[in-house]
Amino acid sequence: MPVANSNLIQPPVITSPASTGMRWGWLLTAMGLAGLGVLYLFNPVEHAFYPACQFYQLTHLHCPGCGGLRALHQLTHGNFAAAFHSNPLLIVSIPWLAWLWISRLQNRSSNALVIQPAAAWTIFAIVVGFGILRNLPFAAFAWMSP
Ligand SMILES: [Zn+2]
Repeated sequence: MPVANSNLIQPPVITSPASTGMRWGWLLTAMGLAGLGVLYLFNPVEHAFYPACQFYQLTHLHCPGCGGLRALHQLTHGNFAAAFHSNPLLIVSIPWLAWLWISRLQNRSSNALVIQPAAAWTIFAIVVGFGILRNLPFAAFAWMSP
């Protein structure tokens, strides 16, 4: 017996009033900039108050995010090569992430957090692939490790 469409469970769409969404967007932007300020002032290599990577603590393997704080610290000081060495995926993703964030802040008409499944799977594959490659014991992939 076929199931009627009304019985299917639909994924939730996250919405909010435009002003609330914009307020949260600017608040998160301010928090991100404050975080960059902390990273500028306090080098993660020299200060222990930064959280350690739990994946690395458990496995001694680098997760896709390992080196991200060090990369952002170097980037805030204009050291692009050192930033790239710490986490190349994060550094090459920053222009795209910034464009995504700014376009989200500017798009006042759409409040839904929408990502196409193909894009989500592509991003997931890139992040997981990067996480695997940076742990392989080959010289060709050594540049990916922090
Ligand atoms: Zn990690």
